[in-house]
Amino acid sequence: MKSFTYERAASPAEAVAATTRVQDAKFIAGGTNLLDLMKLEIETPAHLVDVNGLAFDKIEAAPDGGLRIGALVRNTDLAADARVRRDYPLLTRALVAGASGQLRNKATTAGNLLQRTRCPYFYDTDQPCNKRRPGSGCAAIGGFTRNHAILGASEACIATHPSDMAVAMRALDATVETLRADGAVRSIPIAELYRLPGETPQFETTLTPGELITAVTLPKPIGGTQIYRKVRDRASYAFALVSVGAIIQRDGSGRVALGGVAHKPWRVEAAEAELPRGARAVSARLLAGASPTRQNAFKLPLIERTLAAVLAEARG
Ligand code: SF4
Repeated sequence: MKSFTYERAASPAEAVAATTRVQDAKFIAGGTNLLDLMKLEIETPAHLVDVNGLAFDKIEAAPDGGLRIGALVRNTDLAADARVRRDYPLLTRALVAGASGQLRNKATTAGNLLQRTRCPYFYDTDQPCNKRRPGSGCAAIGGFTRNHAILGASEACIATHPSDMAVAMRALDATVETLRADGAVRSIPIAELYRLPGETPQFETTLTPGELITAVTLPKPIGGTQIYRKVRDRASYAFALVSVGAIIQRDGSGRVALGGVAHKPWRVEAAEAELPRGARAVSARLLAGASPTRQNAFKLPLIERTLAAVLAEARG
């Protein structure tokens, strides 16, 4: 591991100021992904700004009837919160489908959103990877691609985003609140947080350098039957081959977001108009433009079948 300096931020202003004062500084909270990446020298920050002491660990009612989740709320606490379980069960189900109990005890809301891909070539520093070393190539293309993207990929990168929670947040229309290095605050709809890889897969979000996520807000509950179904190679502690997060209303309308298929949680609002016509019609719209490899083409029928199972479960 490369040597680095460390400080504990006493206030949000101090935290963002540290990232402008010191070059190559990074925030750290739970550290469940960042520390692994540092040990492998994939991430080599010169300075760590520990934000664990900031008062972002509360879940509070929002003025519009929604819920404001502090960036430092641990995944376990968020999943167990009575208001989340009652009004946003999709979020609880997605959270408990992710990682392990120990990791969920440490991992934070913001860190979960910002975790990096688990593409094996990204973690193998002997391999070319445009995300890890821009311009070096992509070892996954032409390699082992069972877990890789089938939607929104590029010739530079075919990685997927690994978060289950982000899929639920996308279906729930969450908004990410931030504090920028210049002191400005902003709200980013989660639909605008993630970027597709394009020619610059090293840039994964629309956050600016030194921008700190302070909270995630959920709009007023919309009810419905909320289901998160994750298909993976083993029953726990594995990333999704595909996942479906759905909110289905009594009249058959609803929302659907997919995980394990793209560089970001995948949702096509226009496809949701097809929900009353069933899984095949929705999948046809959701998966339009898909470009699977020979090894991951199975994801296309798997998504349709998983969605059919979700819709059957929603109908009871
Ligand atoms: Fe790197 Fe993306 Fe290629 Fe994986 S798919 S090797 S993360 S460039």
